[in-house]
Amino acid sequence: MNSWRNHLKLGIFLEFIFISIMFFRFSWFQLNDILYIVIICILSPLIMDIDHNQSKLGKTLNKLGLITITIGLVLYYYTEVLYLVIIGLLTSYIALFAPSFVKHRGIIHSIFFCVVYGGIIYLSLGFELAVLGFVGGYTHLLGDKLFFKVL
Ligand SMILES: [Zn+2]
Repeated sequence: MNSWRNHLKLGIFLEFIFISIMFFRFSWFQLNDILYIVIICILSPLIMDIDHNQSKLGKTLNKLGLITITIGLVLYYYTEVLYLVIIGLLTSYIALFAPSFVKHRGIIHSIFFCVVYGGIIYLSLGFELAVLGFVGGYTHLLGDKLFFKVL
């Protein structure tokens, strides 16, 4: 799958199913977290293509990162929660520099990366949102037909 739009559609579709099941069957996710959920749902299916220099994806992700930083700063002003700023900074930073030191569909396109990405979310936003991030990231591998690419 080479269009970021298709990755986003597939990702949001599967994330929606995942959220519905976890919400209704296991009482996961709080309505308070809706902003995080929306941002993670949009960012996660796209983030793996930060290793892609040529397409619009790097630029799109860079912009998404900047938007996340902006929303994060507003949120920080009211709640003193800094996590979104950090996630946005990481996204923009990696989007700018990753293409120069990893190859496209290399290590960033892997289950390992999903775990690292989920781990970063876990440290800042907790387990449930981390699993959502992991699932969202993995939908990208599904879209690229890299079902079992561990590394
Ligand atoms: Zn890809």
